[in-house]
Amino acid sequence: MTPTTLVTGGAGFLGSHLCDRLLKDGQEVLCVDNFYTGRKDNIRHLLAHPRFELIRHDVWLPLYVEVDRIFNLACPASPIHYQNDPIATTKTSVLGAINMLGLAKRRKARILQASTSEVYGDPQRHPQPESYWGHVNTIGPRACYDEGKRCAETLCFDYYRQAKVDIRVIRIFNTYGPRMHPNDGRVVSNFIMQALKGEPITLYGDGQQTRSFCYVDDLIEGMVRMMNQDTEIGPMNLGNPEEFTIRELAETVLRLTGSKSELVFRPLPQDDPMQRQPDITKAKAVLDWTPKVALEDGLKETITYFRKVVSQ
Ligand code: NAD
Ligand code: UDP
Ligand code: UDP
Repeated sequence: MTPTTLVTGGAGFLGSHLCDRLLKDGQEVLCVDNFYTGRKDNIRHLLAHPRFELIRHDVWLPLYVEVDRIFNLACPASPIHYQNDPIATTKTSVLGAINMLGLAKRRKARILQASTSEVYGDPQRHPQPESYWGHVNTIGPRACYDEGKRCAETLCFDYYRQAKVDIRVIRIFNTYGPRMHPNDGRVVSNFIMQALKGEPITLYGDGQQTRSFCYVDDLIEGMVRMMNQDTEIGPMNLGNPEEFTIRELAETVLRLTGSKSELVFRPLPQDDPMQRQPDITKAKAVLDWTPKVALEDGLKETITYFRKVVSQ
């Protein structure tokens, strides 16, 4: 029988691309989502696919389904969304991880947990290798997400040690591409939407903080490779090590869209990390993986997607 793969958060940005990829690889895909930040439009093209199934469900609640592999992606990812209902964010991360690990334990299924570069907080080591323990404010506005994800990692490793669950943990760094939510407040979607609508480009702080942006296709390739190999449980950084300032990103978006939007400066949100860049030595060695899509090329694809969104 074809193995069935569960994707929680499958109607979200990354989850929907992952569903596409798994179906292309010939798998049965069970997508579970509560549509908190995910959208039917992201998976509408899959609804009639014979190997695709959708369940509307909240991962805080137990889920009894017969699956062989689990990608646990359910969790709002943009600061605006995860801070909108911070208690729900922690519940999703922690209770969701417990339920999905319990499911993996019962089914003897391999489970991949989508963790995040946010576990490093506002890092004091640069770039960040997996061995770095991070610098996180436990009581700040980002803590619901950061600490929720840190606890989910802890649960993965305790289920691995105590219950022999076959875990994989990846730490995803900023990823962008088509199907990002146009109003999720993340920097790539914000800048492109603002540029296309001729609105001011909002730089928080002086725009000198850095991020490293990975195109979605590269990320999904790394995620699938991590799931499919038998030697390394993680944590494993996945991201593009090319680092840009936020101002450079704004200028690139303006150039690629041909927009005349002006740059405006807004206060830097509390606990906003000043720099972030993945050390991907481990992913290169273990997964033979390295991102291939240059920022400009990925931005062009993303701009094409958002042009359609704006014109709808
Ligand atoms: P997203 O918000 O587009 O997707 C998250 C999905 O999870 C949505 O479809 C949402 O409806 C669903 N969801 C949220 N709470 C749920 C719940 N309680 N039960 C069921 N479904 C629920 O975000 P994304 O960018 O696709 O992120 C996917 C995963 O990757 C998240 O776990 C996120 O933390 C992680 N991640 C993403 C990035 C990035 O740059 N995109 C970076 C680091 C980590
Ligand atoms: N769980 C689930 N689906 C399953 C098996 C377990 O949702 O197929 C949930 C269950 O609700 C439980 C949690 O996963 O609370 C953790 O499971 P575990 O076996 O570790 O805990 P226990 O059932 O022993 O409390
Ligand atoms: N940012 C910005 N303008 C925006 C949105 C974000 O300058 O309209 C900045 C934000 O302060 C942060 C960086 O861009 O320094 C990345 O923000 P995002 O919310 O995309 O992700 P983060 O990496 O902070 O989780």
